[in-house]
Amino acid sequence: MDEYAVIINAGSSSLKFSVFRRPESNAWRLEVRGQIEGIGTRPQFSAKNEAGQSVADEQLDAAVNDGRTALAYVADWMRERYGGARVRGIGHRVVHGGARYTGPTIVTPEVLDDLRTLIPLAPLHQPYNLAAIEAVWERLPDVPQVACFDTSFHRGQPAVAELVPLPSEIRNTGVQRYGFHGLSYEYIASVLPSVAPGIANGRVIVAHLGSGASMCALKNGKSVDSTLGFTALDGLCMGTRPGAVDPGVILHLFQSLGLSAKEVETMLYKKSGLLGISGISNDMRALLASTEPAARLAVDYFVYRAAKEIGALAAVLGGIDGLVFTAGIGENSAEIRKRICQASAWLGIELDDESNARKGPRISTTASAVSAWVIPTNEELMIARHTGLLLGLIEQRV
Ligand code: AMP
Repeated sequence: MDEYAVIINAGSSSLKFSVFRRPESNAWRLEVRGQIEGIGTRPQFSAKNEAGQSVADEQLDAAVNDGRTALAYVADWMRERYGGARVRGIGHRVVHGGARYTGPTIVTPEVLDDLRTLIPLAPLHQPYNLAAIEAVWERLPDVPQVACFDTSFHRGQPAVAELVPLPSEIRNTGVQRYGFHGLSYEYIASVLPSVAPGIANGRVIVAHLGSGASMCALKNGKSVDSTLGFTALDGLCMGTRPGAVDPGVILHLFQSLGLSAKEVETMLYKKSGLLGISGISNDMRALLASTEPAARLAVDYFVYRAAKEIGALAAVLGGIDGLVFTAGIGENSAEIRKRICQASAWLGIELDDESNARKGPRISTTASAVSAWVIPTNEELMIARHTGLLLGLIEQRV
């Protein structure tokens, strides 16, 4: 009987999944990937097969209004399609693994309890990630589940990169810089030797620019610093998050404006960044298409902050050999790539406009001292690799 492994990436308003299939005695390969988007507003289900052809695309009943009902829908869809199939394992993206989880882990009730304690550090993601694990448990209690963390890839950074310079009694409670988007960076690091062998063992800055955005400094394929810290609020300007803000501003919100902790949390996670600056949208496409001055300012700040962080990470690395763009904005917006590269020209980056327009993968000129690249990320494949390895479903990295 064919065997299946399922990868789940559960967010607040979306549930993404991939199904990998292994025909008897054959290698694992992607069978289908899909998602429910607009959970809680206008749920839409879509799925594509390995060749990228649509196999489902439908508006769902509004009763699919949270992670549990979304997962139930996907489970029913899979049962109809693969009825009686043997599911060997399920891999989940879990945003926060704290200091303890330095790699993927098989989920037990104790692990789940431990991960719940990290919910306040990632309130936008962690509760939804864990709810998906619980929902699967209820339906398939005997199928092993693996948690793959966005923080793990950053463990092993130098002590100064992880430090939050507060008194030790605070640091001892787990207050340190963790870094995020680790599955994306790990994937990029894993493909650099084949896509960009000249820089794979060098000093590389990877810019993961999506609705969440961060950068990672890679030295010889290992993370040595990143722009996200204790939570996913630091560093770059994001869709609805501000990135780095003077902590005195947060004190001001509490002390002078009398905002509650919940109000401040909502402001920082959902109302700031591109949306807060523009007052129009958190979507870079809408801002680039707008002629409103506030939209232009939001884009200008996004680029300004990106260039500033590239400078900081270049200092950490002692110079750079390569710059890689990935995720929604990084992979799709030639204009943002161009503006960030222009602002970073002082580092020796010279963009090739034609290559940039067709997404490279190399987008710098041959004369450029520092090469620039577009490499699509694949966090789900990274989770699949980890899950397969940990459960003994595959013997070596694919
Ligand atoms: P992600 O979180 O990686 O899925 O990225 C989502 C973001 O990518 C969206 O919010 C858009 O702002 C952005 N995006 C996708 N396509 C484009 C594009 N062609 N131009 C600019 N931004 C884009």
